[in-house]
Amino acid sequence: MSIASVSLDLDNLWAYLKTHGDPEWERMPSFLPAATPRLLEVFGEHGLTATVFVVGADAVRDDGAAAVAAIAAAGHEVANHSFGHEPWLHRYSPADLEAEVARAEDAITAAGAPRPVGFRGPGYSVTPRLLAVLADRGYRYDASTLPTWVGPLARCYHNRTAPSTKDSGELFGGFAKVLAPNRAHRWANGLVELPVTTMPLLRVPIHGAYLLRLHQVSPALARAHFRTALALCRALGVTPSLLLHPTDVLGAAEAPGLEFFPGMAVSAARKVELLGWVLGALRRHFEVVGTGEHVARLGEGLRGARRLERAG
Ligand SMILES: [Zn+2]
Repeated sequence: MSIASVSLDLDNLWAYLKTHGDPEWERMPSFLPAATPRLLEVFGEHGLTATVFVVGADAVRDDGAAAVAAIAAAGHEVANHSFGHEPWLHRYSPADLEAEVARAEDAITAAGAPRPVGFRGPGYSVTPRLLAVLADRGYRYDASTLPTWVGPLARCYHNRTAPSTKDSGELFGGFAKVLAPNRAHRWANGLVELPVTTMPLLRVPIHGAYLLRLHQVSPALARAHFRTALALCRALGVTPSLLLHPTDVLGAAEAPGLEFFPGMAVSAARKVELLGWVLGALRRHFEVVGTGEHVARLGEGLRGARRLERAG
């Protein structure tokens, strides 16, 4: 049976409000106490060991540290999702970038999880500088890329709705991302890149938030979209890596201020139902593991030594 992975970016309410330019973020509102147990329960029902990318600024708080401890205790891999969750990470100086990665590691280990070996940036972009920092610090893989053409459209939406953030062209990736590989590959420095899988050939997203956006139009459409993606992955030999977020199981009342967010009109119960269906569909055709295990299993079979042509 071919392999697939599931990862969860444990983005908190404050992080979304920060990217959206809502000053409410500075009060650091959290929906992790509602989201984390619900997600762990769904994973448990499916006997699934996944990877959770944790934001350091949450891991240093009581509710976030409790979430990290519960995730690690349930046997899931805890990986690094930066400290401050700033999508403009690619503009940090080398020293600031190193400090950002290290600070999140310290927060994660202090909360009781092993030192992370996987990283996903908050802005779906990788730079040679980031890959060098990760390799120096002993990371085995990066999972920051999302090879889709929908990203630039998301950026237009973002700029229209969040004029107060320091955003510019590179947030959510440029059009060059369309040509980025949809399969795992090895960078020249040995680090493995495991992209968030998009629909093979069409390069449209298949992650939780996108399925929920389709679900708002029609639940049957969301399921047909995911089934098609899995069929294409199997036909073309792509081992899929599925990305989830806390908002995939939260209702609008549990995420105040995120009414603008795709899929928030769908109730929590419906979301949990869809997620259960998605994981079931994935497990029917694939052996499902976390992203670290996914990378380890691909191992030597990876095509190697791809260089970064440009920053991003
Ligand atoms: Zn994130």
